[in-house]
Amino acid sequence: MSDCIFCKIAQGVIPSAKVYEDDEILAFKDIHPQAPVHFLIIPKRHIDSLAEVQADDVPLLGRMLALAPRLAADLGLKEGFRTIINTGRVGGQEVYHLHIHVVGGEFPLPAMLKH
Ligand code: 5GP
Ligand code: ZN
Repeated sequence: MSDCIFCKIAQGVIPSAKVYEDDEILAFKDIHPQAPVHFLIIPKRHIDSLAEVQADDVPLLGRMLALAPRLAADLGLKEGFRTIINTGRVGGQEVYHLHIHVVGGEFPLPAMLKH
């Protein structure tokens, strides 16, 4: 098995607080939330980062993005939320398995470009 922590979460080897799951996508709460609501949407299949996305991945990416407002609404984020995808070293990416952060639940949210 790969050493990727999010692959292990996707496979259920490492537990997570799940928000949503289907055949291709998992959403779970961030272990170090930056706001009252902070969850991550990941593809179950390993993709390193947004920089490695291929044409074949476009439908999957679309489904991941379209899930964000649905799950945000389920978690009570009625007045908006922030989506973030950190990519590569300069983007501040820490876990190299593509993920969309969804953050909300307070106003104002923490500074966006924190590192
Ligand atoms: P990045 O900086 O790569 O965009 O964000 C990685 C995020 O993954 C961080 O917000 C971090 O708190 C979260 N994270 C890292 N390891 C774990 C883990 O084992 N479980 C969960 N739920 N979140 C994690
Ligand atoms: Zn992975």
